[in-house]
Amino acid sequence: MSKIHTYEEYLKLIGEMIEHDRLYYDKAAPKISDYEYDQLLKKLQSYEKEHPSQMHPESPTQRIGEAPTQGFVQKEHMVPMRSLANTYSEKEIADFVQRVYKLLEKMPLFSCELKIDGAAISLRYVQGKLVSAVTRGNGRVGDDVTANIKTIRDVPLELKGDFPEDFEVRGEVFLSLASFRALNRQREGEGLEVFANPRNAAAGSLKLLDPKEVAKRKLNLFCYAVGEGQAPIRSQYQLHSLLKTWGLPVVESQYVFLAEDVQGIMAFAEKVVHDRSFLSFEIDGIVVKVDDLSLHELLGSTGKVPRYAVAYKFAPEQAITQIQDIIVQVGRSGVLTPVAELEPVFLAGSTISRATLHNQEEVARKDIRIGDTVVIEKGGDVIPKVVKVEKHERDSKPWHMPKLCPSCKTEVVHHEKEVAVRCPNIHCMGQKLRKIIYFASKQAMDIEHMGEKVVELLVEKGLISRVSDIYRLTEDDLSLLEGFKEKSIHNLLQSIEESRKIPFSRFIMALGIPLVGTETADLLAEESGDLQTLCSMSEDSLKAIHGIGEKTAKTIYEFLHDPEQQEEIRLLIENGVQPQRMQQKMQGHPFLNKVFVLTGALKKYSRDEVSSLIKKRGGKVSGSVSSKTDYVLAGEDPGSKYDKAKELGILILSEEQFEKML
Ligand code: NAD
Repeated sequence: MSKIHTYEEYLKLIGEMIEHDRLYYDKAAPKISDYEYDQLLKKLQSYEKEHPSQMHPESPTQRIGEAPTQGFVQKEHMVPMRSLANTYSEKEIADFVQRVYKLLEKMPLFSCELKIDGAAISLRYVQGKLVSAVTRGNGRVGDDVTANIKTIRDVPLELKGDFPEDFEVRGEVFLSLASFRALNRQREGEGLEVFANPRNAAAGSLKLLDPKEVAKRKLNLFCYAVGEGQAPIRSQYQLHSLLKTWGLPVVESQYVFLAEDVQGIMAFAEKVVHDRSFLSFEIDGIVVKVDDLSLHELLGSTGKVPRYAVAYKFAPEQAITQIQDIIVQVGRSGVLTPVAELEPVFLAGSTISRATLHNQEEVARKDIRIGDTVVIEKGGDVIPKVVKVEKHERDSKPWHMPKLCPSCKTEVVHHEKEVAVRCPNIHCMGQKLRKIIYFASKQAMDIEHMGEKVVELLVEKGLISRVSDIYRLTEDDLSLLEGFKEKSIHNLLQSIEESRKIPFSRFIMALGIPLVGTETADLLAEESGDLQTLCSMSEDSLKAIHGIGEKTAKTIYEFLHDPEQQEEIRLLIENGVQPQRMQQKMQGHPFLNKVFVLTGALKKYSRDEVSSLIKKRGGKVSGSVSSKTDYVLAGEDPGSKYDKAKELGILILSEEQFEKML
């Protein structure tokens, strides 16, 4: 690690790290790995140690770089939320233990726990009732995400047992690996960018403005602390079981350990490293805390980190292997993706033989070539990535995207403004295959037993070449498939049968209209009510649907008026698919049974208009704020209702937030 020599270099690095903070915290899309970031942070720290008088107040060593999110009300924590100092070696753990020993003049016990890789949250319970949930923010003030947190099933709205009167519980909101993968699969299906890891996905989800969308993300929570000085007991180790008795979710007890010394801490770290690949969620290390909570205040903090705790982070799990080939996959919209075929290697609990290379630019940037020895890393996703080239194979040449589509041999196109290279042939069999795979998948028609392999077999045998063919498959057809016996034939036919009566919004999803994800599909289904109406809607009436933009409306219109798509829809219906009409408008809307109070002047709507919007969506409007109020919609110059809502910890919505939830 090179050193910083001058003040200019120091300032330059601060600037770069502020940008990394912005990408990490606000966009949930970091450009460098956490390990690389922490190495840069260490550079800053060592410069600041040598030149304490030059310490800049904006240095990332001093402050938590998370800016307030637009659209959320800011709320102050009762007790500040801090970050953790990072260590990566036994030596650094020993230094931490030694520092604590010196400060206390005695050796305390250390509570060791998992460092869950998610987003920190502080839940405030008053008389056992959840009144607010606030992100860490800058440590003092965070985003009030109560409405979002309430959608998490793990979060108790009311506590049990003998809890403190008014206190804050700290924990980590995270996505299990299964939910993370399902979310990325769905996003891929919708043509959206996938999340790099579960942490980014969890942090990004918390900042969504529509709680209904948050609910779909299936977030989880683990609690591990209460605000300093608020615990009714003295031991951090015992706190976990106490939190559990109050009904709060905590990690399994085998992952909380009381250590006496560095050896004990390292033994726990070793166990966790061993178990890591069997856990259903991501961790990025362990956290070591002085067990006696009464010593926490005494030890205090420096800058943004406490002196009583430290994180021991695991360097990312990597392996070295060789690229045997680079193949190109054709997506359903014609996008070509390079994929590295690897010499199989064992990494983080499974054997890896493929890694996505994303796109041609990424391959060029890392100069990845066939035959190269590369470092691969698993970032929580099933698909590992190539981090860097360790060594080029002698005489190897730079890799280029082929000029012809590998499936239909049509000349590929590369639009100037796009990273992606595409096959423009809409009749390309490679694209069709992907379309059928998507159509049958969980996020679309959800035809059980009809995974990728089965679709490939059916296409190979010439039994299907378009999605509507699925509904004409017979027992005799399926008996031609290798390995298909009576039971598997019956199961597949049964699943196909069950999928015929699909909810209308899911059917819209399954059509694979570009730019149409679950949210837009729901809107289209709600607004049109049935397929016939949807297909006859003009571009203007599609545009008039609240939440559908101009570009999306145009794309939907063009898709539904494309003769080939119309023929496909006709055949699906003719072959017995019966999308189920929406039962009731706005069913399941987040406003359903929610009590609103209005205060202040709104820019876009009159009071009557707002009341009607709320009522149409199943909500109620009340004249005064009480504990029964769910939301206060505040415009300009809000009155006393605003203050009352703040006092009671009721979620206050701005006009913009309200609009996004409609
Ligand atoms: P951190 O993630 O290193 O550690 C502190 C956090 O750990 C706490 O706030 C809490 O949310 C969490 N945590 C999980 N389990 C815990 C437990 N059992 N007890 C206590 N806390 C627990 O620190 P941070 O401030 O959230 O983020 C800083 C780190 O984020 C950096 O060190 C770096 O690794 C990463 N980062 C990366 C980039 C990038 O560009 N890659 C940018 C900024 C930050």
